[in-house]
Amino acid sequence: MSIEVRDLVVEFKGVRALEGLNFDVRDEEFLVVLGPSGCGKTTALKCIAGLLEPTSGEIYIDGRKVNGVYPSERNIAMVFQNYALYPHMTVYDNIALNMKMKGLPRNVIDEKVKNVASRLQIDQMLKKRPKELSGGQAQRVGLARAMVREPTAYLMDEPLSNLDARLRNEMRDEMKQFQNITGKSIIYVTHDQVEAMTLGDRIVVMNKGRIVQEDAPKKLFDDPDHVFVASFLGNPPMNMMAAEIVSDGTAGYSLIFGDAPGDRMHLSTDGSVRLPQSVIIGIRPTDFKYNAKGNVKAVFDYVELLGADVNLHFSIGSNRCIARIERRDENEELLEFSKGRPILLEVEPQRLFVFDAQDQRRIRTEVREFKI
Ligand code: ADP
Ligand code: MG
Repeated sequence: MSIEVRDLVVEFKGVRALEGLNFDVRDEEFLVVLGPSGCGKTTALKCIAGLLEPTSGEIYIDGRKVNGVYPSERNIAMVFQNYALYPHMTVYDNIALNMKMKGLPRNVIDEKVKNVASRLQIDQMLKKRPKELSGGQAQRVGLARAMVREPTAYLMDEPLSNLDARLRNEMRDEMKQFQNITGKSIIYVTHDQVEAMTLGDRIVVMNKGRIVQEDAPKKLFDDPDHVFVASFLGNPPMNMMAAEIVSDGTAGYSLIFGDAPGDRMHLSTDGSVRLPQSVIIGIRPTDFKYNAKGNVKAVFDYVELLGADVNLHFSIGSNRCIARIERRDENEELLEFSKGRPILLEVEPQRLFVFDAQDQRRIRTEVREFKI
C-alpha cells in the first residue's frame, strides 16, 4: 500500500493553506506529520481522504490517481480529534453504523463489531453510551469504528490532543500497538513533538503550508536542516542566539551577540565553509555540562528546580538561554547554584549548531573549538 502526494496546493478564498506539498507514505509505515497549529495538516489529510478537493496537485493511492474519487471509494479511514461519536447511540451501534447503512447482514456486522472490540479491548463496553466512557475508551471506540471498515490506510488527525497528559502517555503506546494490530500504513498528524518522536517511523515537519524537512525522528533531532526544525523538536527548545561576525581571521571567527559588551564568542571551524556575516548559534539545553574548565561563561538569573535536574536561565546578549544540568556532579556532590555569580559550563564543540540568519538554513561546517 502506498500514498503519494504531489505538488498539493490548497487555496481558501485567495489564502494559500498548502503551498505545494510532496510526500509519500510507504507500506505499513507510521508517518507523522508534525507542525504548529494552522500550518495545513488537517487540510492535507482532508485532501487525501477526499473530503476536500485541492486547488491543484495530485494524490495517488497504490499508484492510482484518486483526485475526484469519492471518499467512500478511496478505502482509507480518517479518525478525528473529537472522535465524532453519536451520543445517543451505544458503543455497539456507533461501531456498526457504517455497515448497517451499507446493508450488511446482521450476523456479519455482529461478528466484525465483536472481533474489533475484542482486539481493542472494549468488548465490555459495547452496551454503554459515549458519555459513560473515559477519554481513552472513547478514543478506542473511534478507532474501532475506523477498523471495521477494513481500510488500506488510516489518517489520524491529532487523535490524542483532547486527552489529559497522563492518558496521552498511555494512549501513545496504544497507538503504536494499533499499528501492530492492523499492520496498515498510518498518517498521523500532530503538533506535539513528543508524540511525533515516539510514534513516527518517519516525520514530515511542516510550517506555513510547506514541508521543511522529513526524516527519521532521531535524524531530525540530531541533524536538523533548519532553525525551525531545530527549535520545534526538543524540550526545552534549542537555545537560538543571533550573532554577527566582527572579525574573520586565520585562527577563526570573532562574533558578538547583540550589543552587550563582553558577550563575545570565538569560534573556529574546519574551514570547509565560509560563514556569512549574520548567523544564528544553536545549543540544546541538555548539551550543557557543569565544568569549572568550561567554555561558556554564564551569569544566571533564575534557577528552576526540576528534581534531579535544574534549568539555569541566563542571557547571552539579548538572547535568553536555558541550560539543563544535573544537580549532582560526577562525584555525586550536590551543586549549589546562587544567582548572579558567573559559572562555567561546558558544551562540546560538535554540539554547536550554526545557521545562516538570512534563510535560517543550517551551515554544515565542523566546529573545532569555541568559547563564549
Ligand atoms: P492545522 O490542521 O495544521 O492546524 P489547517 O489545515 O486546519 O491547519 O489550516 C491551515 C490554514 O488554512 C489555516 O490558516 C486555516 O485558517 C486555513 N483554513 C482551513 N480551513 C479553511 C476553510 N474552510 N476556509 C478558509 N480557511 C481555512
Ligand atoms: Mg488541524
